[in-house]
Amino acid sequence: MTQVPHALASLCLQDKVIVVTGGNSGIGKAIVEVVGSLGAKVVIDYRSHPERTEELIDEVGELGGRSIGVQADVSKLEDLQQLIDTAVQTFGKIDVMVNNAGIETRTSILDTSPEDFDNVMNVNLRGVFFATQYAAKQMISQGSGGRIINISSVHEDWPMPNNTPYCVAKGGVRMLTRTAGVELADKGVSIVNVGPGAVATPINDSTMNDPELLAKLNAAIPIGRMAQPAEIASVVAFLAGNGASYMTATSVFADGGIMMSSPGL
Ligand code: NAD
Repeated sequence: MTQVPHALASLCLQDKVIVVTGGNSGIGKAIVEVVGSLGAKVVIDYRSHPERTEELIDEVGELGGRSIGVQADVSKLEDLQQLIDTAVQTFGKIDVMVNNAGIETRTSILDTSPEDFDNVMNVNLRGVFFATQYAAKQMISQGSGGRIINISSVHEDWPMPNNTPYCVAKGGVRMLTRTAGVELADKGVSIVNVGPGAVATPINDSTMNDPELLAKLNAAIPIGRMAQPAEIASVVAFLAGNGASYMTATSVFADGGIMMSSPGL
């Protein structure tokens, strides 16, 4: 008979090895804090600000967890492979790969330069594609399988005019998760996207620093406000645990209802 996880045990991440890309700020940092406090061994990938990573490692230690930092640019394949290798050398396996690193240019189809397009694709889609490939190979070879969680966006499915390359990349991640999730299901690797709505992180500084724009955004969100990073991290923590064992090739949205927002006309 299939083993069904006990409700509380399904939330425990004790001894799970979890890699988080872009892990020293915003949503990634909150994910590191939550999964670290639930007992996971965390590998914090970061591109810049090693001092922030050191502070976070100390914080995870105070929460009773264990973590290391690895400087790796997810748009560089050799860095990605080194990230996976360091995780395995340090902790022996990878249970969960969280592809969180992301950038945006806030440019329209008419004003996006080839450089803008390549930069966004290389981080948000190519980086996620090959991190998924490398992590899945590791999960299959270690025999226990694993889970890949991609921090996508409501914009994997919902247009954001004037942020076109970002939406195109996130749409690609939507299809990556569906296709690779089906391909890898019988190999013990599951893949789920988390699609946040608007979250109070540095990526949204320009909106948060413009009171008029912020009021407009809040008015469009049925819950009436942006999310805090911890409200996305808690969803990721659930998906990283055994309670999400029957989920794959799909997306979970935590968006305050924005995708369903309607003026009632
Ligand atoms: P953030 O800017 O705080 O975090 C992004 C992180 O990715 C940073 O730590 C950055 O250094 C890292 N990063 C960027 N390029 C990288 C690279 N080449 N290699 C390694 N790391 C790199 O913003 P955030 O809001 O925390 O974003 C995290 C994820 O959530 C992104 O994928 C973003 O698209 C997604 N997201 C954010 C929101 C939001 O409203 N904040 C909404 C939906 C989805």
